[in-house]
Amino acid sequence: MVELFATEQLKKLAPRYRTFIEKELYPLEIALVNIPFREAGPILQQKRELAKKQKLWAPFLPKKEGGAGLTLTEFGQISELMGTTPFGHYVFNCNAPDIGNIELMHRHASASLKKKYLLPLVQGKIRSCFSMTEPGSAGSNPVALETTAIREGDQYVINGLKWFTTAADGASFAIVMAVTNASASPYERASMILVPTDTAGFNIIRNIPIMGEAGEGYMSHAEIEYNNCRVPVSNLIGEEGSGFVLAQERLGPGRIHHCMRWIGICERAFELMCERARTRNMGDGTMLGDKQTIQNWIAESRAEINAARYMVLHTAHRIDQEGAKAARPDISAIKFFVADVLMKVLDRSIQAHGALGITDDTLLSFWYRHERGARIYDGPDEVHKSSLARSILKNKKA
Ligand SMILES: Cc1cc2nc3c(=O)[nH]c(=O)nc-3n(C[C@H](O)[C@H](O)[C@H](O)COP(=O)(O)OP(=O)(O)OC[C@H]3O[C@@H](n4cnc5c(N)ncnc54)[C@H](O)[C@@H]3O)c2cc1C
Repeated sequence: MVELFATEQLKKLAPRYRTFIEKELYPLEIALVNIPFREAGPILQQKRELAKKQKLWAPFLPKKEGGAGLTLTEFGQISELMGTTPFGHYVFNCNAPDIGNIELMHRHASASLKKKYLLPLVQGKIRSCFSMTEPGSAGSNPVALETTAIREGDQYVINGLKWFTTAADGASFAIVMAVTNASASPYERASMILVPTDTAGFNIIRNIPIMGEAGEGYMSHAEIEYNNCRVPVSNLIGEEGSGFVLAQERLGPGRIHHCMRWIGICERAFELMCERARTRNMGDGTMLGDKQTIQNWIAESRAEINAARYMVLHTAHRIDQEGAKAARPDISAIKFFVADVLMKVLDRSIQAHGALGITDDTLLSFWYRHERGARIYDGPDEVHKSSLARSILKNKKA
């Protein structure tokens, strides 16, 4: 915990999360990542019930809705703790994409959508997904979307092909981004619409194989065909044409959540690297940690993780104080900076472990496979760098 950002509430809560994670999740994690989700799910369900019982469930929610009413800066620090173990966020119902959908629906869904879909999602009775990216259009340019939702009477008829819809397999509904008015200005063409996954025409084509593994359930990314998929107009979230604005709103806090989760992973990978450096006897009278290259990796990783954490918490604090729009350049900076630190720390830790580093006997290979996407989703590095540079140059002009 960073003292500068540590509130009284956080000082009380953080040790409770740390104890739960270390006692309930660390002992199971290697086994759970190496079995299919359908087998891991029931074990994780028991832990989810325990988290509820201990009042550790969904701390990002307001107090009146059963959460801890944490600010983004506070939640970020809890999110780091959850990130130290692969199913941490899932066990406390803070996992993407559900957390993003919960925050979005909380602010913009109608009372009836909240009752029917948001409430069971918050209670952890169902899962959801977010369906925006398409194989046929550049995801890094969200105004290029091709999927359409044409209004016919009191229904939208949705047609298009989406992919990388995380956790669609087993989800009860998708929030789909689709073009509702092709002739509107680029940023007003699309809307967000809730589609129950049992709607006729909602077809999961496949869970996409990624780095040798298609996964299943919560641990998968689906390709989905929307084929004349009809939903009531009342399933619209927010105003028609507000999809782009809502996507931006969703991604501000979302990037803090991801970055802090990555810092949690970094801390774990760092611990493993240090332990290996301390205990690996090189057989020549030295330990691995006596080698200067390994010392450099340890020192550089420590400095980079610390820098990343300060940057993210500073950005979270700015969002809490001034809103996501004002913090946009900081959000871009952390997105590519922390993803890069994550890649470097994971890679160094794997290298320090030698062959053991690429086996499934440690968590390193799981994270290396599953987190490479960090530099791509929620805006690829290049887009964020360009956006940051443009905002800097614009201010120089003024
Ligand atoms: C693990 C994972 C989970 C995901 N989950 C979801 C999900 O749940 N829902 C969902 O809708 N989507 C999801 N996505 C999709 C993700 O949001 C997109 O992959 C991302 O927006 C990039 O879009 P694209 O893949 O179409 O790449 P493209 O837009 O085709 O870009 C390809 C590459 O071009 C380069 N590039 C792009 N723009 C620029 C630029 N302006 N300047 C310089 N270079 C540029 C970048 O290197 C980029 O990686 C997920 C992706 C991953 C990897």
